[in-house]
Formats: sequence, C-alpha cells, structure tokens
Amino acid sequence: MDKKVRSEAAETQTASNFIHNIIDKDLETQKYGDRVYTRFPPEPNGYLHIGHAKSICLNFSTAQKYGGKCNLRYDDTNPIKEDMEYVDSIEEDVKWLGFQWDKRLWASDYFDKMYEAAVDLIKKGKAFVCDLNAEQIREYRGTLKEPGKESPYRNRSIEENLALFEEMRDGKYADGEKVLRAKIDMASPNINLRDPVIYRIAHTSHHNTGDKWCIYPMYDFAHPIEDAIEGITHSICTLEFEDHRPLYEWVLHALGWWEAPPQQIEFARLNLTNTVMSKRYLKAMVEDGTVESWDDPRMPTIAGLRRRGYTPEAVRDFCERIGVSKANSLVDIALLEHCVREDLKSKVQSRNVVENPIKIVLTNYPEDKTEELEIENNKEVPEMGSRKVPFSRELYVDGEDFMEVPVKKYFRLFPGNEVRFKGAYFITCNEVIKNEDGSIKELHCTYDPETKSGSGFEGRKVKGTIHWVDARTAVKIKIRQYDYLMIEDENGENIINPNSLKEIEAYAEPAVAGAEPGERFQFFRHGYYIADTKLSTDTEKVFNRIVDLKSSWKK
Ligand code: ATP
Ligand code: MG
Repeated sequence: MDKKVRSEAAETQTASNFIHNIIDKDLETQKYGDRVYTRFPPEPNGYLHIGHAKSICLNFSTAQKYGGKCNLRYDDTNPIKEDMEYVDSIEEDVKWLGFQWDKRLWASDYFDKMYEAAVDLIKKGKAFVCDLNAEQIREYRGTLKEPGKESPYRNRSIEENLALFEEMRDGKYADGEKVLRAKIDMASPNINLRDPVIYRIAHTSHHNTGDKWCIYPMYDFAHPIEDAIEGITHSICTLEFEDHRPLYEWVLHALGWWEAPPQQIEFARLNLTNTVMSKRYLKAMVEDGTVESWDDPRMPTIAGLRRRGYTPEAVRDFCERIGVSKANSLVDIALLEHCVREDLKSKVQSRNVVENPIKIVLTNYPEDKTEELEIENNKEVPEMGSRKVPFSRELYVDGEDFMEVPVKKYFRLFPGNEVRFKGAYFITCNEVIKNEDGSIKELHCTYDPETKSGSGFEGRKVKGTIHWVDARTAVKIKIRQYDYLMIEDENGENIINPNSLKEIEAYAEPAVAGAEPGERFQFFRHGYYIADTKLSTDTEKVFNRIVDLKSSWKK
C-alpha cells in the first residue's frame, strides 16, 4: 500500500485499546448519548516531549475514531509566568503531529466558575476555611497506616466559612494563612480524600487574569470542573492520578451541577530508554547549556524530534505501536528509531556522501573527461527515478571502505583487490601513495571500461560494492552525528552522555548542494539525514543524522 494512504488510514482505523472498550460500553448505554469528547491539557511551562505525543495521539485519535471532538486546553490554574514561546510551541507541535483541536481554551478562564463552585460547596456544608499552616495540615493528615485528625476549624459554620472565604478572595490574608478545604473523611484509606485543600492564597499575578485573583484553585479541584464545563466525556490522564480519581468524582458529585459528569481514565505514561521525560529536567538542560535549545536535535521534545528529521507519520506510528495500557513499562528507544527508518525508506532519495575521505586517482582514466552516470534515487522505489552523478579521474571513497592490510572477510578496497564502484565501474587498487608523515595521500587505481554499470557485463564478479564522490565537483558538508543524551554509567545510573554530539566534515555529490533546509536523504550506506533548518546556509550545508541504517530493534 502507498505510504501516504497507509498513514491516513492509521488516523481513522486506530487499533482498539481498553479506553476504546470503555467508550464502546458508554455508547451502548448512552451514558453521554453519542458524544465522545476528549481534551489534551498541557501546562504551558515548557516544550512538549515524546511522552506528550503519546497523550496527544491518544486523545485526538480517540475523538477522531468516534467522530467526536478534542480540545486543546492550557492548564494554567497555577499563576505561572506567561510564556508565549511555550504556548506557540505547543500549538505548532500538535498541528505538526497532524491534529486539529476543536476549541483552544484556558483553564484560567473558568476562575469565576471555580470560585462559584467553591462557594457552593461551602453552602452545602462540604468545604471549610482552615487556619492550619501547611506543616500542621501535613501532620494532621495521618499516614497510610494511621487515620488523620480532624482540623479544629472543621466545624466552622457555613456563614463563617462564606465570610472567611470572601475575605481570602479580597486579599485580607497572607499566602498560607488560610486555605479552603473539602470536608470529606479524615479516616479515608485514600489520603487524597482526607479533607484536601482546594483553594490556596497566592498573591501572585496571573498571565491571563492579572491581579484579579489572589486565591487559586488546586489541580484536583480545578481539573474536574474544567472537564465538566467543556462537556468532556472521557478525561484521559496518566496513572499517577489513579488515586486522585475518587476526589475527581467527589468534586463533581458534591457539586451535582452536571447531569452526565466526565469520567477520568488513567493509562500508563510513556517511559523510553536513554530518555528523560520531564519538562522541568529538560528545561534545566536548556538553561545550563547541556543542550543548545529546546529544539536541539538530541532533545526528546517534539520540536527536537522534528528538527532531528523525524516525521509526524513516524511518531504517530510509534505511538500506535506502543499501545495504551494500565501497566507502567519502559519502551526501547530502538522502536522509535525503527519507526522513522520504516517511514523514510520509501520516501527519500539516496545520495552519495563519503566520510573520512580517501582520494582515488584512476591512472588509466582520461584527465579531462567527466561522465554523467545515471544513478537511481531509491533502489526500492523505481518511480523515484534517477539522477546524473559526475564521475572522473579523481574521486573520493569513504575512509571505512579501504584497509591497507585487510582483515578477514573484508571485501572492500585494499591493495590488489577489485571492487564495484556503485553505478560506475569495477576498480582495482594498485598502489597506496603516502605523505611524508606516513599517512595516506591517495590510492592509485585503475578502472575497467568494459564493466560499466548497466552494460550487462558478466565477465567476472566482485564481492564488494562501495560508493564514491567525484573529487572535482564534491561539496563539502558538515554532518552532526548524535548519540543518546542519557546513558547509563557502570552502576546503572542515568548520566548525561558527554559525547552526544559529534561534528564531522564529509564530501557529497553535487546534488546535495541544493538541499533545502528540512530536506531529507538517505546518505548511501550511512543512514538518514536532514538538512538542518537552523544551521544550514546557502554556502554551508549542515545535516543532522536522523538515524543510522542498522536496526537494533528486536520484537
Ligand atoms: P512533565 O512532568 O514532563 O512536565 P506533565 O505531566 O507535568 O509532564 P502536562 O503539561 O501536565 O505535563 O501534561 C499534559 C498531558 O500530557 C497530561 O495529560 C499528561 O498526563 C500527559 N503526559 C505527560 N507526560 C506523559 C508521558 N510520559 N506519557 C504519556 N502522557 C504524558
Ligand atoms: Mg504537570
């Protein structure tokens, strides 16, 4: 099947998972009628990473599968500093992955509604203002083995609570002096239900609401209300929130405002080998200069993957293959690499590029002659045609393709051996010419005109085929080779890899000079590469190695 068709099909024929099973049942019982409404709720405090991609794919493709809708909602109930850079990057990333939100919303737009909800809980005798400080609240909370102790402020009258809460809102108290708590059960085996704090005082400006508020709702109180206001049916989150689900349900039930309140469903977050996935940690690496930027091609951010050369199709395919489950696990990063190789192999053209070049002089080839040889662009996809590649007396081959003293089973170039120069001729290495310091200056070789590629020559066979670049027209390019940012030290501890970036120079066939920023190629026998969108100029092309050709992925 054509690649494009397959990726489009993937969007509509998402494989089933346990979340879809829940939705199927809800549709059967008409719990939400025919509605399936999800949301992706990032906190705009950093760039999104590959873990978020899993959540994005899950939320958006679930909505797609059921003809439903998915909102993009910024979870900005914390008065964090506005950073439009993050907001813009989030939108770019979601769109790049191929999804379109129904509505773009800000949780802070619901502050009035949340305040109203808090007042309603107080009126219902289900919330109270508490004067204990944070440390006391922690002490009173108890442990997993011991029940908590009720706050001495728990039995304040409704009137007193309403008045105090209003004073909190009006700025009468300092940060931490009072909080609003839900009145649930200090003996609950679930500590989240032991009268959790639902509103706190923070005299901090908010990027959206300015100084309108000096009290802010806590996540566990705010989130179910945000979902309910938007008519979300299935609120999908990661497993850490499983213990918070009873509180999510309590808030919605205690308010009783919504006929068919949303339900929270948890799935296991993505963990990847050699990868840290925490915005806070990634931010620190940007700030301390461990990496160049949020979109450094080594970063597991979506922006980093994009600049590295990953395609949205490959990332979506990866998210599809890892599936959705309730059990935490660690996914091998080799699977992600496998997905991008699979996607690119039939999409990109091949080019000849040599690293650690060794010069070849064909002593029996005319000095002033240049041939234009026709070389196929993609061996697996004949429709991708061919290109003309110059060939003349002086060429370069890859440093890896010559050994002065060959090891066993080495079929490439060595003195006395004949190999095929791909798309050209059979070449025999006759003599190694050295510099004064003993290093190799050039190899003197001869070509056999009878053996021209495509001529049907069957006289003899050679075992090695190597690629080459014409010396006179070669383009010098810079290649950035990446290794994992995180590796394990000898004790199995994750450490930052000090050698995650290696820059080398290479020679490329002339067609590479015209590469547009963002254009991808296979560099024959090396791997997949993309012309970097930030560093490439008209005069110097810089390529990121997306992935090499060898797969270490095993099912
Ligand atoms: P981080 O800890 O990296 O900052 P977060 O969970 O705080 O991540 P949010 O912006 O709050 O980041 O997350 C938005 C959504 O993405 C949430 O629904 C969250 O569950 C989901 N998400 C975050 N990390 C992962 C992950 N590794 N795998 C799957 N989903 C994730
Ligand atoms: Mg978060």
